[in-house]
Amino acid sequence: MKSFKVFLMVALLVLQNEAMAASCDKSASESKKVSTQADQINKFSAEEVVRELKNLYRRKDKTFRMDRLSPENLEAAFDLVLAELELKIADFSAKQLKPNFRNTIVKLEDMFRDYAQMLIIVESISLNQTKLYKEVEANITKKSKEFDDRYRKNEIIAKRVNEVVASLQNRKLPEDSRRLLNEYKKIFSRLDEASEKRLLEIELRLTELADKFTGNVLEATEKTFVEFTEAELKGFSKEMLESGKDLAEQNGNPNYLFNPIVPVLSKALSSLELSSSREKIYRAYAQLGITSEFNNRPIIKEILQLRQEKAKLKSFNNFAEYSISEKAAPSLEVVKSFLEDLRDLYFHNAKIEIAKIRAYKEKATGDSKLYAWDYAYWNEKLMKEEIGISEQELKPYLSFYSFQTAFHKRLEDLYGIEIVERKDLPSFDSESQSFEIRKDGKSYAFLYADSFAKSGKRSGAWMTEMISGYRDKRGNRKIPTATINLNIMRAKEGQTTFMSPNEAVTYAHEFGHALHAILSNARYYSQFGTRVAWDVVEVPSQFNENLVLDKDFIKSFAVHHETKEVIPDHLVDGFIKSLNFNAGYAGLRQTAYLGLLDLEFHRHPDMVFEDPVAFEQKFVEPYNLFDKADFQVATSGKFNHIFTNGGYSAGYYSYKWAEIIEADVFRFLSQSKDPAKVMDDWIKKVISIGGSSDFNQGVESVLGRKIDPSALVERAGLEIPK
Ligand SMILES: [Zn+2]
Repeated sequence: MKSFKVFLMVALLVLQNEAMAASCDKSASESKKVSTQADQINKFSAEEVVRELKNLYRRKDKTFRMDRLSPENLEAAFDLVLAELELKIADFSAKQLKPNFRNTIVKLEDMFRDYAQMLIIVESISLNQTKLYKEVEANITKKSKEFDDRYRKNEIIAKRVNEVVASLQNRKLPEDSRRLLNEYKKIFSRLDEASEKRLLEIELRLTELADKFTGNVLEATEKTFVEFTEAELKGFSKEMLESGKDLAEQNGNPNYLFNPIVPVLSKALSSLELSSSREKIYRAYAQLGITSEFNNRPIIKEILQLRQEKAKLKSFNNFAEYSISEKAAPSLEVVKSFLEDLRDLYFHNAKIEIAKIRAYKEKATGDSKLYAWDYAYWNEKLMKEEIGISEQELKPYLSFYSFQTAFHKRLEDLYGIEIVERKDLPSFDSESQSFEIRKDGKSYAFLYADSFAKSGKRSGAWMTEMISGYRDKRGNRKIPTATINLNIMRAKEGQTTFMSPNEAVTYAHEFGHALHAILSNARYYSQFGTRVAWDVVEVPSQFNENLVLDKDFIKSFAVHHETKEVIPDHLVDGFIKSLNFNAGYAGLRQTAYLGLLDLEFHRHPDMVFEDPVAFEQKFVEPYNLFDKADFQVATSGKFNHIFTNGGYSAGYYSYKWAEIIEADVFRFLSQSKDPAKVMDDWIKKVISIGGSSDFNQGVESVLGRKIDPSALVERAGLEIPK
């Protein structure tokens, strides 16, 4: 059910995440939270969790005490909330009434709030402490799916909802109420009993398969050790060597060992000097999820079959059509041709870029062969020569806390808010930060920032809308809470934590999602915040990335941690340029290798993918620009996005779709004579509306015209083929 869906934003930049942080200075400890005993604090009983939940919006000065949750009491608390909801439903069903919008639709909204809220809290906390809460989350997901099915089968409620729908068919309603009514209509338009039964089986099986898929990738990664001698690791930093040595020692190995995790992979591909060493780790990574021991092929096959069956039950030709029908994009055909057009444009540019890298490599080594594992290394070298900087030169200027302070100031100016750190408030643990967001001098929202990598936390970066707001009968706005989560490597106590440029952009990205969640002013709970169509959910976050890529902004905070010198112009220019360097290949990856592959997997109702990996290889082959490896390379086996996440299945295109919108709006803002008015419009007509009115119409009303894709092409500096 869409209304209770938890929106999880996974940063696109995960692949480029930097793993290592560097040395010295003091500011890291300054921002450490005072409540270091947080981890030993008394845990809530299940009843206390429920009480905390019910008091969510009453407390003026503190947020949800998630530091006092534990796996056992969280599941027990969920059971209590669910039992209470079932009682309320029974009560409601037994009552005689003449159904109308208020006593039925609004009533259901109220009844479900604690339950929906509980699900989001579970999701938020289990992402943050995955290992600890894995089982609890699986149990709760299963219970909630079964409950959803029971609820949708409630004939009395269905009848009442349908009566309200019929009675208001031709009546004028406020847009948010009309949209809410349509949502409820969808929830209660049931198929015949047999089809509904099968749909539930499919859902439950898909959840199991998703867990197996992720589990295979995780286990394969943990059990794969790539061994190197010291000579093979030329190019690695001291920290990387140390971590390889540590892992080897733990395993009684005299050399160096690495698991093929993304941060290690990206570090290795961009810095190891020997092509054979890069190949070694690349090969290990490429095999994740497709080897005989942890083989995701049969799982992919079953997932795709079940999804097609589900689409057919819902009267669509295929799953891609079904998935897109739930999104803002008009149709599968439109999405496909938009992706293909972009792919062709990126392919044209990528060919030029790769030819250049190949020639550059040949000049340096006498060998023109360029394999996939050579790309990052030679690209970085060429970039350094053309732009004259490397990421390593930038890092001493990018202290996490200086960036954070400056970035928050920028957001305050632009969005008209105050972001106040509240060290007196609890958060996930002692390393995460709590902020109060104020507007017009009043408390408007809370935000938890958990920015650092730690054991048991999921990798990557994301935002959760942990406590959602709404407006009550009297119009009083209930204050929401969001969390942003990153995996920046924190420096040791007393030293400065640095971030890579990409991490700075990721922070801005997640904060954009958070602002979308907490600046909302929607009336209904199930329309608040980021509850918009999946393919526009990345618009506010990607919009925010632009704010980092601004010379004046960077110069306002980037000071060398030792010399205290302000970052020189050439480094700032280089940094901004580097983010678009060779944008053709990056875009080709997103369209041809990922976005179109995702559509292709989901748009063939009758195709049986005996071997999805072979299918993938054949599908992307025409767009391969590298020399061929003598082993299988495939994304499918670890493509978590599309195989374990409902929204991104036949929805990976959403990133590009959102980029077109966001690039256009940002260009409009930059060129405007009255940027304050544009921002004001942007907040009022897009950011704050949630799902209460149409997102695209909101954007077009800010622009005063239709959305224009040329801004994206222009920003990336792409060459248009003649
Ligand atoms: Zn995102």
